[in-house]
Amino acid sequence: MSNVAQEAARRRTFAIISHPDAGKTTLTEKMLLFGGAIQMAGSVKGRKAARHATSDWMALEKERGISVTSSVMQFPYEGRIVNLLDTPGHADFGEDTYRVLTAVDSALMVIDVAKGVEERTIKLMEVCRLRDTPIMTFINKLDREGKNPIDLLDEVESVLKIQCAPVTWPIGMGQRLKGVVHLITGEVHLYEAGKNFTRQDSTIFPSIDDPGVEAAIGAPMLAELREELELVEGASHSFDLDAYLRGVQTPVFFGSAVNNFGLQPLLDFFVEHAPSPQARATTSRDVSPTEGKLTGFVFKIQANMDPQHRDRVAFMRICSGKFAAGMKAFHVRSGKEQKLANALTFMASDRELAEDAWPGDVIGLHNHGTISIGDTFTEGEQLSFTGIPNFAPELFRRARLRDPLKLKQLQKGLAQLSEEGATQFFKPMMSNDLILGAVGMLQFDVVAYRLKDEYGVEATFEPVQVSTARWVRCDDPKKLEEFIDKNAVNLSHDASGALVYLAPTRVNLQLAEERSPAVTFMATREHA
Ligand code: GDP
Repeated sequence: MSNVAQEAARRRTFAIISHPDAGKTTLTEKMLLFGGAIQMAGSVKGRKAARHATSDWMALEKERGISVTSSVMQFPYEGRIVNLLDTPGHADFGEDTYRVLTAVDSALMVIDVAKGVEERTIKLMEVCRLRDTPIMTFINKLDREGKNPIDLLDEVESVLKIQCAPVTWPIGMGQRLKGVVHLITGEVHLYEAGKNFTRQDSTIFPSIDDPGVEAAIGAPMLAELREELELVEGASHSFDLDAYLRGVQTPVFFGSAVNNFGLQPLLDFFVEHAPSPQARATTSRDVSPTEGKLTGFVFKIQANMDPQHRDRVAFMRICSGKFAAGMKAFHVRSGKEQKLANALTFMASDRELAEDAWPGDVIGLHNHGTISIGDTFTEGEQLSFTGIPNFAPELFRRARLRDPLKLKQLQKGLAQLSEEGATQFFKPMMSNDLILGAVGMLQFDVVAYRLKDEYGVEATFEPVQVSTARWVRCDDPKKLEEFIDKNAVNLSHDASGALVYLAPTRVNLQLAEERSPAVTFMATREHA
């Protein structure tokens, strides 16, 4: 096997999907601890503590404190390299989350044992389903009373339309929680608060028939457990690797993240069975991770990660080949070669200079406005990874400045923040307005706050007569010119200079489309 193939086979790149408060942050932190990437618990959580204290968007900023520095976390586990990509917590960041999920090979779904399947989990699951992303499930907070485990699996199956294959099974819950049984190995892992970090640190019996089990949980509970296991065996699916990899079955684990419990069986199973980097579609062919030449795509851009440095970082998922520090790569959209100097990797919450990186890894590239979400880098080949859309905004506001002399700063701030993809920035051809489009209302508050905080500009956002946006394209230059002449009042350029039709009403859009059949109106701008 080549070096690239070997390194790719070792990689596990995934994201956690869950409803807020199910335990994503706690689980993330524990995984980093398991991987030895951080020494002490508390570093992820500490920054989050103030989250609930302030108003919604301030809280969001606080939350950004975590999701920013821990956008990508890499840690070693059992000879594998695990890349955990963080998905933003707030519902308004739907499209951002969507793009993160295009960059992973599998997902871990966390469910609160008391709450069951919640609304945001359903949405995220729908996104995973678009690419048949394999999903493992962790049922959390077993130290509390919750739903009956069998009912819970039924709920997952019926609401999320995915088969459940329990891999561990709980022995009691809440006050009566005693442990879990591993349904494949037969092992019994006892629940002991404050322990369970490693196998050495846990009490594990080889099977439920071991006398130690009866001694630990008592004869009545053991009898109950035997009955329940029989029921589970009859009523549920057994693990089928192929069904899992096709996204039609999810292996299920039970535990308590805050108590480290049930995580070791989960992680062991995860690194063994979760897919390594897979082949990916491009405009011209599928790219295999084992190919020798570097390819990758940008799925996320973060402005001002470090306020002191005013930097913008483009996160690139490597799809094939090897990245080596200082190498040059071909930026397909601009057709230019670019030196990938000072690229970053993300070990735990620290940023470090990347020496090399392999398929499945994510590197951070310094961006000076030339890189957009969806961009592909190669070693010269003309291909672009597909499936990373830019969503059409549904809400529009005109930016209004307190201090008119700060127009330049405002433009710069709006353009840079729009690179992140949560908002889009338009400059109408016929006026000096600056129009911002977003998918959620909260975005306008976030942008106003960040403009002030990061760019020193005070701006407000006022209503504007725009109901929807369409990217327009026309292969016939003459017809395009005619179209522009006739429709200039409604045309704008977006931050990358692409032409966009801002329709004051839906009816207006319909008429414009009918009158210019040679022009294509697109609801998303797929980057090509
Ligand atoms: P997130 O919003 O999904 O990131 O959830 P957090 O990790 O912040 O957890 C939400 C709350 O649930 C916090 O107060 C955690 O301490 C708590 N929590 C997480 N895991 C467990 C668990 O296993 N048992 C109990 N009882 N609480 C937990």
